[in-house]
Amino acid sequence: MEKGRLIVISGFSGAGKGTVVKKLLEKYNYSLSISATTRAPREGEVDGREYYFKTVDEFRTLIDYNGLIEWAQYVDNFYGTPRKFVEEEIAAGKNVILEIEVQGAMNIKSQYPNAILIFITTKDIKTLHERLSSRGTETPDVIAKRIARAAEEAESMEAYEFIVVNDDLDTCVDAVNSIVVSEECKKENNTQFLIDIKKELEDYSKTV
Ligand code: 5GP
Repeated sequence: MEKGRLIVISGFSGAGKGTVVKKLLEKYNYSLSISATTRAPREGEVDGREYYFKTVDEFRTLIDYNGLIEWAQYVDNFYGTPRKFVEEEIAAGKNVILEIEVQGAMNIKSQYPNAILIFITTKDIKTLHERLSSRGTETPDVIAKRIARAAEEAESMEAYEFIVVNDDLDTCVDAVNSIVVSEECKKENNTQFLIDIKKELEDYSKTV
């Protein structure tokens, strides 16, 4: 069986990545990595569903035991991708979505060169600010910090192979899936298939 690949989805906080990922999972066949974080749960978030919520000590232990394939500090908290789930899923041929920030994405690309890096953005910063404020879960101070972080992240957008504007949700979700499908169809990702089908044709032509 072909191995699955990692689909890294990053984007400004408030660009609607979470909604895009949720819709991708509903509409298409992906599996989702659930990260560990030291951030406090937001209202309605459940341990093991949105995140594995950890203390700083627990998080450090995960790092010490090589339990994370990458981790990063974002604003005032730590976030990391648990190793076991990702390795099992890609070995089983599943495409795994990692919704992670830029430092983590760069780290993944160096470890998994065939990972697909996609950056989701709003069409402008005004929309970003509006979405962050209307979420009602962050204080003005945190919103300001997240917009400041977005400015830093914009610098790293260049490192992503794909930039998708999330203006209309369905269009954005379909665009992300199309990127993955076309990546899978590239000839360099089908070398074994090409060898096999040529061999089959050769064998077939001998029989007629
Ligand atoms: P939030 O606090 O809004 O849930 O997430 C803050 C940021 O952390 C987002 O940009 C999100 O994509 C990123 N993030 C979530 N999980 C991980 C992870 O496992 N690793 C890294 N590097 N970033 C993560």
